[in-house]
Amino acid sequence: MRILLVEDDTMIGDSVRSALKHEGFAVDWVRDGRAAQATLATERFDLVLLDLGLPQVSGLDVLRVLRTQKDATPVIIVTARDDLASRVAGLDAGADDYLVKPFEFEELTARMRAVIRRHVGRAEPAIEVGPVTLDPTTRTVTVDGEPVILSAREYAVLEAMMLRPGAILSRAQLEDRLYGWGEEIESNAISVYVHQLRRKLGDDFIHTVRGVGYYVGKPRAGR
Ligand code: CA
Repeated sequence: MRILLVEDDTMIGDSVRSALKHEGFAVDWVRDGRAAQATLATERFDLVLLDLGLPQVSGLDVLRVLRTQKDATPVIIVTARDDLASRVAGLDAGADDYLVKPFEFEELTARMRAVIRRHVGRAEPAIEVGPVTLDPTTRTVTVDGEPVILSAREYAVLEAMMLRPGAILSRAQLEDRLYGWGEEIESNAISVYVHQLRRKLGDDFIHTVRGVGYYVGKPRAGR
């Protein structure tokens, strides 16, 4: 999961970014509204965490412009503004959720999972593909009902594929889901994670399309 964090407070930004990275999210962090707009215009994210009080362009304006452009990227407003008018304005401008600072990190990640779940159109939290079940709420994975222990990055690679069964994800798309800007990416990292996942989930669960990428489940029609 790739997250854009828009936050001008260095301490909050730093702690949210490192906590999310620890959970296996790829996090890109920008500190003003204009940078947020420039980034959203060129890159794709699974979710945006958006502060309201920002230099250059306010969070509310970033959100309004985004929705005017028919960009449906999920957005959670994370702000110290807890008055009713701000909450209503944020939700009316197209936010998917609204979280008031200070917050518990556990609540933030729970809301992120709920918003992402709704966005991909699943009310049921667990995803099943063949013998493998992945539960984003508990971040647990089972094969034929038996729990499997995955590292945060193995989990992130598997989750990206299981959210879109049958869709081929290229190595670059998977790297995007795993790494933020400026992070060192070893050239064979994705192959290594796929290899480890196959060892843990069974050799034939993840399919390789040579020169294109990887997928799980049944291939989509028309290919
Ligand atoms: Ca702020």
